[in-house]
Amino acid sequence: MKILVVGAGFSGAVVARTLAEANLRVEVIDKRDHIAGNAYDYWHESGIRVHKYGPHIFHTNNQRVVEWLSRFTEWVPYQHKVKAILDDGQYVTMPPNRETAEIVGRENIVDILFKPYTQKMWGLNVEEIDAQVLSRVPIRDDDNELYFPNDSFQALPKAGYTALIQNILAHPNITVSLNTAFDKSMEANYQKVFNSMPIDEYYDFCFGELPYRSIKFTNQLIHSPRLFPVPTVNFTNDGSYTRVTEWKLYPGHGESRYQTLLTYEEPCDYKENNMERFYPVKDKLGENARLYKQYKEIKNEKVEFIGRCGQYVYIDMHQAVSSSRVVADKYLNGLF
Ligand code: UDP
Repeated sequence: MKILVVGAGFSGAVVARTLAEANLRVEVIDKRDHIAGNAYDYWHESGIRVHKYGPHIFHTNNQRVVEWLSRFTEWVPYQHKVKAILDDGQYVTMPPNRETAEIVGRENIVDILFKPYTQKMWGLNVEEIDAQVLSRVPIRDDDNELYFPNDSFQALPKAGYTALIQNILAHPNITVSLNTAFDKSMEANYQKVFNSMPIDEYYDFCFGELPYRSIKFTNQLIHSPRLFPVPTVNFTNDGSYTRVTEWKLYPGHGESRYQTLLTYEEPCDYKENNMERFYPVKDKLGENARLYKQYKEIKNEKVEFIGRCGQYVYIDMHQAVSSSRVVADKYLNGLF
């Protein structure tokens, strides 16, 4: 009997590889026409590398995850920096640091840098969103300019995320089928299914729909060698965009001498973007978590849910890797 993995992103690829190395035969399907999930990157015709679903910056303190991934990629060191652009065109460091506070005024930081951005990002105001979400961007008093000041390992995969996932999936016990949507009738052919699809959709929304935010991306090729001081600039005003990324400013993302490629991000409800679910919504009252729990408690011995949509959790890449390693190891140890 074989194993089915639904979704060829980080979560699915890590489960597939771990089980394949334990001599199980694994079939991976993905409804999209590419692997790597939302970390998918490609070379734009301008010769610049783009992350199709927005910038993915790898950062972690989990040395075991770094060691595991390093079997499949070389790395380019990169420490992420982000600036917010103020209404007068001035750039300030995000997360806010001492200098940011000096420029906008400490008492204005939340109003200027967090309130409108959070509103457009989540469709909720700062009081309605769980504090953990905002704590990803902690205010500080020093002059540190890094977006992830506390992570010991920060880098980008040298040949890109698609190549990294490709290498993870490149094992004789793994087959990958793209353009293949999951259907419950498939389950009978497998001894176990690791499924990264939205858990509410799997159960036909029987308890109701879990909310998700999505992002619409707009690319713009500009005939200028360079535009911004850092690769990602946040729009913290109440316009519709949250941020813009200038791809060539990331190391290893191309050398176009005359032009630069930008991607603007505009958040929306996933239903306004082709049902593309990117971010589970962690509301302060925990209503969405309660709804997720109802789905999770449905007894289902065949299926283990994985990833951001399967587990309804706002995790980063390194967390997806470690969580999938745990899930796959538990399965191999016969724990479920
Ligand atoms: N945030 C904000 N202003 C910013 C950057 C972030 O208000 O300039 C808030 C916002 O609510 C956002 C959260 O902090 O959703 C987490 O930001 P992060 O950059 O970690 O989001 P991601 O990169 O996952 O989209």
